[in-house]
Amino acid sequence: MTVTCRPTLARLAIVALTAACMHHGASRGALEPGTLPPSFYAGGPDCGGAPRFRVHAYNPDFYILRQPACTNYEKPFLYLIFGRDRALLLDSGAGNVDVVTPVDTIVTRWMARHGRTSVNLVVAHSHAHGDHVAGDTLFARRPNTTVVGRDTASVRAFFGIARWPADSGQIDLGGRVLDVLPIPGHQPASIAVYDRRTGVLLTGDTFYPGRLYVRDTAAFATSIDRLTAFASTHPVTHMLGAHVENTSTPSVDYPVGTVDQPAEHALSLGRAELVTLDSVVRMMRGRITRTVLRDVTIWPVAP
Ligand SMILES: [Zn+2]
Ligand SMILES: [Zn+2]
Repeated sequence: MTVTCRPTLARLAIVALTAACMHHGASRGALEPGTLPPSFYAGGPDCGGAPRFRVHAYNPDFYILRQPACTNYEKPFLYLIFGRDRALLLDSGAGNVDVVTPVDTIVTRWMARHGRTSVNLVVAHSHAHGDHVAGDTLFARRPNTTVVGRDTASVRAFFGIARWPADSGQIDLGGRVLDVLPIPGHQPASIAVYDRRTGVLLTGDTFYPGRLYVRDTAAFATSIDRLTAFASTHPVTHMLGAHVENTSTPSVDYPVGTVDQPAEHALSLGRAELVTLDSVVRMMRGRITRTVLRDVTIWPVAP
């Protein structure tokens, strides 16, 4: 059953006003800048030889990798962030492709620029679904690499999260602290990762331009609330998720399983879109139904 939510104009005006008013005290000028391309097109079904990750340097210490569409229609995004002492890779891809070589290429160039001969790599996950952890077996054999467990207990322990999901944790990469927020609902071990240096908030499969599959409705509502509160009290430049499934036409997505997506929605979402989602989820009062919004679709599924 599909239910299209139609918030009243007055309600939308309040949402827009709320978004505009959620101004944070911190100066955006203090954040390290970066760039995003207009499109992260991941190609079609033909790999044209060896499949290649699309690699984009948001800035010299922050990389976005996208798995090629020809290797898995999910074509997830992976994020590689460098601190002075170690680097964090968030997610290891959907499998069926060599994910270590592109990461090694970036790491080798980074080390050359910094006169280093080694840098430790931490591989963690936005959540435990197969399209984000399948490369773990390859990274398990890589030197100087720690692969964080996928279950909630392992995530809690590694990031020092006292109470799950109420508390947040941290990881210090060396002069670069990342905040880790539990956001269960899509999957029990889902986390968001906030980079204080750039203001980028990585939101996994919980918030991205596509179908937000909700398995635990109560947990999801609380998590979207938590994300919204965080984004209202911290300078957030971009919210970057793990997929793009919407098209560039508002409220229109590519059908499930689409490989070739030449006219995708932009990867980045902002605070206004999150506030809208939070507002709609709140109005549902625990009875979450499939709802098409402009940039995302709320899509409850069986737990
Ligand atoms: Zn997922
Ligand atoms: Zn996914």
